[in-house]
Amino acid sequence: MTDFDYDLFTIGAGSGGVRASRLAASYGAKVGVAEEYRVGGTCVIRGCVPKKFLVYASEYGHSFNDAKGYGWSADNVSFDWSKLIQNKDDEIDRLNGIYIRNLKNAGADIFQSRAVLKDNHTVHLAAENRDVTAEKILIATGGAPWTDESVPGHDLGITSNEAFHLDTLPKHVIVAGGGYIAIEFACIFRGLGCEVCLVYRGEDILRYFDTDVSVQVHAEMKRQGIRIITQSVFEKIEKLDGDVKRAHLTNGTHIDADLIFWAVGRKAATAGMGLEKAGVELDKSGAVVVDEFSKSSVDNIFAVGDVTNRVNLTPVAIREGAAFAETEFNNNSTKMDYTFIPKAVFSQPPVGTVGYAEHEARQKFDNVDIYKTNFRAMKNMLTGSEERVLMKLVVDGDTDRVLGCHIVGAEAAEMIQAIAIAVKAGVTKSQFDETVALHPTIAEELVTMREKFQPKY
Ligand code: NDP
Repeated sequence: MTDFDYDLFTIGAGSGGVRASRLAASYGAKVGVAEEYRVGGTCVIRGCVPKKFLVYASEYGHSFNDAKGYGWSADNVSFDWSKLIQNKDDEIDRLNGIYIRNLKNAGADIFQSRAVLKDNHTVHLAAENRDVTAEKILIATGGAPWTDESVPGHDLGITSNEAFHLDTLPKHVIVAGGGYIAIEFACIFRGLGCEVCLVYRGEDILRYFDTDVSVQVHAEMKRQGIRIITQSVFEKIEKLDGDVKRAHLTNGTHIDADLIFWAVGRKAATAGMGLEKAGVELDKSGAVVVDEFSKSSVDNIFAVGDVTNRVNLTPVAIREGAAFAETEFNNNSTKMDYTFIPKAVFSQPPVGTVGYAEHEARQKFDNVDIYKTNFRAMKNMLTGSEERVLMKLVVDGDTDRVLGCHIVGAEAAEMIQAIAIAVKAGVTKSQFDETVALHPTIAEELVTMREKFQPKY
């Protein structure tokens, strides 16, 4: 018998928090969960899921055009932003309901409230103005987009949080950033017919990815008419007449738009939660410092998901939450395995990638072989689209193991999920070669790359 109200109290009902809570409850723990916004968290409510709906919507913008090559007439198509947003919201409401039901069915108590730590066993529920106690506390509050407040007029821009609820589709959008969210939303808005300009501080967008991926995505975005300005940031933003905002850039130019969209990263949501008071160590970005079992510097306080700023992806948060519940409530010591996590950027065309980028592999392995191909997919022979596909394998020249696979092209995200199984299991390049191609597909090119790429130095 515990002297606490709960065996586990979880703060934050997103992907990681919900998974951990449900699993812990299924192992017999008495679980409470506090959520200040909506159960489902960033992924379901204002992240991956609604974003993917916008991606689907925007892909039709290209498809109507492409269909002409296949004999279809699609001349007077129109698009209704409000209808898309309403349909998207209905689906998000449905998913939100499922998440709430699943938590309740597992036996967890849900509190619609901000929760703040008073000490390492006491949680204050602001909405109810009362305290609850718990033997173990799980911080799963995720992250939030930030804007650069040093830029005068920064508050004239929005973040991804607001992008899902715009009243109207903007005509001209400026996106700041060169990461996942910037690239995905730039493509979404372009597919829906907006004029889009992306402003990125570095040289290569998606700089954490393989350089060939970065170059290919850049080229494809330009081909669609997205203007990309590199090595520049906002100097100031000012409001002109009507809805128009003017972004002054550090390269001395300015651009006008009716929507300015900050996509310059996300920060762990730890502010004002009483974590420091409870003795929980935070890193300099504000993320909770945890060990490999997601335990914080305080013995009974744990954290999973984006709030720990490890690998900020939904399936990772889910796995971390599950590993925590296994370890702490099922007597089954479990660590999250961070190797060979597949990743996708839902650009248009999308990116699918797993394992080492070429530059990472060259730092770690003595002999690295590269196989790559770049081609126009068969479908586009009739559409007239110049969109190209990139496929690249990074191979350990000593062992023949495939270290990385990188794809930019239609269905890249779908392909990489399957390829990741083989790559994680240690597949060799010879085994790729021994696999019979499936014709005619884009994916068949993955098993027909025979020539090592010879760089021209
Ligand atoms: P990212 O870290 O991917 O990108 C942030 C971008 O903002 C980078 O290009 C960065 O530049 C730039 N930046 C940072 N600070 C500044 C600044 N002060 N001024 C101008 N530019 C700046 O963050 P996102 O917000 O795009 O996404 C957050 C996280 O969410 C991702 O890391 C990912 O884990 C997750 N996510 C995953 C998705 C998916 O799986 N498809 C989709 C969306 C989000 P630089 O490159 O030079 O550092």
